[in-house]
Amino acid sequence: MNLILLGAPGAGKGTLAAYLIEKMGVPSVSTGNILREAIKNNTPLGREAKQFMDAGQLVPDQVVIGMLKDRIAQDDCKNGFILDGFPRTIPQAEALDKIASIDCALSLEVPDEVIEGRMTGRRVCLKCGATYHVKANPPKTPDVCDHCGDRLHVRKDDHMGVVRHRLATFHEQTEPLKDYYGAQGKLKSIDGTQGIQQTEQFATAALGL
Ligand code: ADP
Ligand code: ADP
Ligand code: ZN
Repeated sequence: MNLILLGAPGAGKGTLAAYLIEKMGVPSVSTGNILREAIKNNTPLGREAKQFMDAGQLVPDQVVIGMLKDRIAQDDCKNGFILDGFPRTIPQAEALDKIASIDCALSLEVPDEVIEGRMTGRRVCLKCGATYHVKANPPKTPDVCDHCGDRLHVRKDDHMGVVRHRLATFHEQTEPLKDYYGAQGKLKSIDGTQGIQQTEQFATAALGL
């Protein structure tokens, strides 16, 4: 199955993707994680993306579309993939339709007022991409990644000033994708405000896994 996870920043896409990887046996592709790794490694892509990401703006379509094409052309995506954070604009969705057949877009519904608590408590591992929350999903040792032992970080763009901007961008540019996939009969929506396990159950039921 080729699945898209839609949802506001902090809605829980990455957290749900980590669960669905095991359940569905396919990899997840997070454009945010690929870009953060590029920034960490100071590659040309990273240098181009950094200014946009730090400001809470979308990286230009042509940059992310090229990056995504290369990633899903890799062998491990042959039998399906989970997209986390792509597409984020209508032109991205149209480009994706030209290179892959999407089975479902699953939207995690979380209102803006819940997002603040998600963002302020989020901690990420820049080495392996794992995501934690100080209350809802804490690592075993504070600020240390359970999977790889690296130090956890607060994302620069998770501070509230930037988060508000990212939410506005989401409503303007990404939320219209619900209608885009709805018109194709591919949209499924679940409540993302409940706990992590409850969200996993809603997703399992919605996807018929
Ligand atoms: P979140 O998980 O909070 O939704 P991501 O990790 O997916 O955030 O993305 C972080 C930032 O990376 C975005 O604010 C944007 O600058 C950039 N980015 C990630 N994916 C895309 C994309 N598909 N199109 C444009 N920019 C992107
Ligand atoms: P996204 O990828 O959509 O930006 P994340 O998966 O990174 O979102 O989740 C944002 C933050 O909220 C993380 O700190 C994560 O641990 C936490 N979180 C994710 N899902 C839930 C949930 N259902 N209930 C409470 N906290 C959650
Ligand atoms: Zn890690």
